[in-house]
Amino acid sequence: MLDLAIVNAALPSRQGYWDIGIVDEKIAYIRPATSSLHPPSQDLSTESGLHSNDSSPSNGQPNGQPNDSVQTTLDARGHLVIPGLADAHFHLDKVSLLRRCVPKRGDFKEAMEVTLAAKREFTLPDIQARASRHIEQAIAFGTSFMRSHVEVDPTIRLLALEALLPLRDRYAWGIDIQLAVFAQEGITHDSEIPDLLRQAMAAGGDVIGSAPYVDASPAENIRTIFDIAEEFDCDVDFHLDFLDDDKPLLAPVVIEETQRRGWQGRVCLGHMTKLAALSPEELQAIAKQLAEAGISVLALPASDLYMMARQDSHNVRRGVAPVHTLAAHGVNVGLATNNVQNLFTPFGDGDLLKICTLLAQVLHLGNVSQHHLCLEMATQSAAQAMGIKHYGLTVGHSADLVILGAETVSEAVGSAPIERTILKKGRIVAQNKLERQFFVPSEA
Ligand SMILES: [Zn+2]
Repeated sequence: MLDLAIVNAALPSRQGYWDIGIVDEKIAYIRPATSSLHPPSQDLSTESGLHSNDSSPSNGQPNGQPNDSVQTTLDARGHLVIPGLADAHFHLDKVSLLRRCVPKRGDFKEAMEVTLAAKREFTLPDIQARASRHIEQAIAFGTSFMRSHVEVDPTIRLLALEALLPLRDRYAWGIDIQLAVFAQEGITHDSEIPDLLRQAMAAGGDVIGSAPYVDASPAENIRTIFDIAEEFDCDVDFHLDFLDDDKPLLAPVVIEETQRRGWQGRVCLGHMTKLAALSPEELQAIAKQLAEAGISVLALPASDLYMMARQDSHNVRRGVAPVHTLAAHGVNVGLATNNVQNLFTPFGDGDLLKICTLLAQVLHLGNVSQHHLCLEMATQSAAQAMGIKHYGLTVGHSADLVILGAETVSEAVGSAPIERTILKKGRIVAQNKLERQFFVPSEA
């Protein structure tokens, strides 16, 4: 017996309308829609009608198919169904800090200094309260997978990890969270830090990473992270080639270590803003090496637009990794949120589709195939960057799906619609509807 069926769905890479059947948390079939489609309502608040078979459909729409064998049928009415969003780079431990950390200059140096001071005051309930609010928000937006970096250093030690490990389990009904143990403050200046990172991995960290650009010995920092990755057989995630100073790229060091250790397909690089400053020839050369090493690159446009090019007095550069060009050279690329409502990014609500819209605007990605690339960067290729198996709109894969209040990929990327119905492992876990009222004056 089917647990749930979605009927009359538009899908990102297929023509026509489709029915999706779900059994035991997985996609059991994807086949051409069997009912005549009633066009999407102009009033999106009534879309994606939710029908349970023990009651008649309240809006009079047919249920789509004879379904005595289906427990629940969702009529997508021509709206787009996408795989659950994958936010591959986030910071749950320092989300929503603006009430206690008010930006003055708003630059990277201030963000590092003020956030380090704030970390000294973090408590376990404080981290859990901020992170829980954000996780719930992310689930409601349709984020089905998230990789959160978790700071581990002599200031905060394992406190953030201890706060977030229980949340990874508590919210498994709505989201798969990976915790990436993260040396934000450097490694090589303090011999205790590698031990702390190892303790964090032993305590349950999923991924290991650092920000080598803050370290006086970035190559040694990178090698230490790979050493730990080998010991714990885990993926690697660096904040890399961030800022727009004149220091040389660190990507070649990561590429070399990835090849040397056989870590192809297991390394992800976030920011990579310096790539925006390369000539087309230089970019092509590094892209080829990244592709060969199976290294994924994530653009973090909300943070990078805010932090980059602060020394420019006019005609200010953008400083966002040219992921579309990397993709054209075969690199697996994604986009992610990074920070929300803190000194690194005093904006945002954690909706990855809005980051899609932002990236499309910033990188001039305006045509239909480019919109498809943007959506892939928030779904399929972001999931690949996170090493997630059995992801996506494929029979046998986990039924992590979002029915969007949009009919096409371009609409979804262009408008990040509010209306969404979220399924995790075939279960409806959230639904968002827009309630709008007009108060028209009587003389009109
Ligand atoms: Zn980050």
